[in-house]
Amino acid sequence: MRKVALVAWEKVYCPKSMGGLNIKGCKEWNIASVGKLVWQLALNKESLWVRWVHGLYMKTNPDIWTHSPPLDSSWYWRKLNSVKEGVREWYSQSRYILNPAGKYSINSSYLALIGRQQKMEIADLVWSAVAQPKHRFIGWLASLGKLLTKDRMIGMQIQVENVNCILCNEDALESQDHLFAQCGWITAVRQELNKWTRHDVQYT
Ligand SMILES: [Zn+2]
Repeated sequence: MRKVALVAWEKVYCPKSMGGLNIKGCKEWNIASVGKLVWQLALNKESLWVRWVHGLYMKTNPDIWTHSPPLDSSWYWRKLNSVKEGVREWYSQSRYILNPAGKYSINSSYLALIGRQQKMEIADLVWSAVAQPKHRFIGWLASLGKLLTKDRMIGMQIQVENVNCILCNEDALESQDHLFAQCGWITAVRQELNKWTRHDVQYT
């Protein structure tokens, strides 16, 4: 069977509270990291590197925001200056504004780069420490509606021999809603569990 990506990469590299897996997107994380150097230059931080760059490239114009990299400058200096354009809006009156203290945070910058994402309301439940890793992963996929159930496989034009749920004998198409809410077999199991734990767990 061919491999399918169940969740878009743009979702995967979000924090867990936003429905992702908290894996860092390399491109965005790199830009956020280079942004720290821009911050050091914008605030003219007292460091050997800042002094060195000022002595080498910024002799005539010490302001990073209006500085143009000389044509014969190194690749990294030109790259840093191109990143500078993308992070310019994070500053107001030369002050970094994504962090209340004005101190540069690679994480705040990273979050600004990946943009505003919808909050996953049940993230704490899905990633609960008492759940087993496999169950957390299934819970995560289910909360995004991305479980590879047979109805979705048909949508992806993957050949499926038997499209019905294998847990019950209801001739019902296997879908996420069926598995979690409608399936008679699962409902019976849930009722027994509710009796045993004296809780009333329902799927919504
Ligand atoms: Zn079923």
